[in-house]
Amino acid sequence: MGKIKGFMEFQRALPADREPLERIKDWQEFHKVMPVVELQNQGARCMDCGTPYCHTGFMLSGVASGCPIHNLVPEWNDYVYNGFWHEAFDRLLKTNNFPEFTGRVCPAPCEGSCVLGIIELPVTIKNIEYSIIERAFKEGWVEPKQILNRTGKRVAVVGSGPSGLACADQLNKAGHSVTVFERDDRFGGLMMYGIPNMKLDKKLVLERRFDLMKREGITFMESTEVGVDYPADKLLDEFDAVVLCTGATKPRNLAEEGRELPGIHFAMDFLRSSTKALLDESAPVLSAFGKNVVVIGGGDTGTDCVATSLRQGCKSVIQLEIMPKPPIERQPDNPWPEWPKTFKVDYGQEEAFFVQGEDPRKYSMMTKKFLADEKGILQAVEVSGVEWVKADGRFVPQPVAGTEQIIPTDLVLLAMGFIGPEEHLLQQLQVLQDERSNIRATDKTYLTNRERIFAAGDARRGQSLVVWAIHEGRAAARECDRVLMGETHLP
Ligand SMILES: Cc1cc2nc3c(=O)[nH]c(=O)nc-3n(C[C@H](O)[C@H](O)[C@H](O)COP(=O)(O)OP(=O)(O)OC[C@H]3O[C@@H](n4cnc5c(N)ncnc54)[C@H](O)[C@@H]3O)c2cc1C
Ligand code: SF4
Repeated sequence: MGKIKGFMEFQRALPADREPLERIKDWQEFHKVMPVVELQNQGARCMDCGTPYCHTGFMLSGVASGCPIHNLVPEWNDYVYNGFWHEAFDRLLKTNNFPEFTGRVCPAPCEGSCVLGIIELPVTIKNIEYSIIERAFKEGWVEPKQILNRTGKRVAVVGSGPSGLACADQLNKAGHSVTVFERDDRFGGLMMYGIPNMKLDKKLVLERRFDLMKREGITFMESTEVGVDYPADKLLDEFDAVVLCTGATKPRNLAEEGRELPGIHFAMDFLRSSTKALLDESAPVLSAFGKNVVVIGGGDTGTDCVATSLRQGCKSVIQLEIMPKPPIERQPDNPWPEWPKTFKVDYGQEEAFFVQGEDPRKYSMMTKKFLADEKGILQAVEVSGVEWVKADGRFVPQPVAGTEQIIPTDLVLLAMGFIGPEEHLLQQLQVLQDERSNIRATDKTYLTNRERIFAAGDARRGQSLVVWAIHEGRAAARECDRVLMGETHLP
């Protein structure tokens, strides 16, 4: 433990962000870097708990509690406090292939279950992780590793999101020759074309990592959709094993009247076109410029739509959420170390507040229909208030009569989550799906019903987080290595 009573001496602090009204003028990342002395003070707050819940990583009440990849948090907090940055970096790499991704975009379930959080604000774990890895890059400590012993085994990883990348990285370290297939023109999965640039810089952060992985010997095949551009049945002939990391990219839709009107889009189409236009200037953009935007869905994807709409110069933006507004404090049925289901203001809502003078979220709202003018152009969305009633043992939303409202809009973005993996490749490979439509493979073996075909990430687990995808990719790599070699030394 770095500093006895450090948690009594120092308050939790986060790095400053760029001013909301300033940062919405560009697409650059918005967190500022914290001075080293302040970082050390934050590290000093860690109590090096006997049972450090920050790194336990298990599911409690359906949500992750603690770090899913079991980051050795108390150890690196201590090293940072004492100024041993290289040692902190070594510890960080033991559990996390890509701390520069999680240090930016992870919602930090570790902080939600930090023991200090019982009586105080938790340790600022995520920002310390970010600072360690960025310092390591700056100092030149992150270098491509030469893999000296090759096994002669070939593995295909299908999909280059965080699960595919983590899986490829681990299998390459184990000496296998890895090819990553990606149907998009760029690698990274939802980290490339989903999460916007201001949260995760594509050129500075993603490309930096891909470059390292290529120099370590991994082959990357972009614009190659397995099952379309590359025949699925060739996979098992040409590779000793296959890991499917294809994501859960089927969006949840609405069946309400007027859904077919032009001007109603899936969030991913909007976010994708925005990032694409940023990276390729000539790419067409689905723009919110000058529009009254309604985002349906109060989660992270919805927030990214709010922030993107503001940067594109929308006239106004509203975010509709079907759930009630969360409480400010933890409730008795949501005790520590569960993930705190409390009210949070994310970057997009903060920006909307500064532009519009209020939080863009409207809670307990349900979409009833979309309305068009006489020319068939989207004009408004009709919504109503919602109450949650118990039916067949579970709560379902019911519209409340008399609470209907018409919200004028000319751009609606559907950000209501994803319902599972796309099916055509799975059908070609005769890979079975479970009752939730995810690829059927247990979290012990990650093996599908087909010999030598494994699955990981959102495609197996359902829509989740970058950190879970990294966990899945590492675990599937370990099981794949075990099958290929008869034993494994991968963690
Ligand atoms: C808008 C948005 C914002 C998000 N923000 C956050 C956040 O802030 N923090 C966080 O932790 N999580 C966030 N998430 C969730 C997170 O991005 C995902 O959980 C994670 O990317 C899943 O990783 P994955 O590797 O399993 O799949 P994906 O990232 O979906 O990658 C799958 C890849 O497989 C490719 N593919 C599919 N089929 C084929 C095929 N047949 N051949 C070749 N390639 C194929 C796809 O093109 C894709 O690139 C966000 C998600 C979205 C949509
Ligand atoms: S739970 Fe919090 S205080 Fe305890 S070791 Fe982990 S980060 Fe430190």
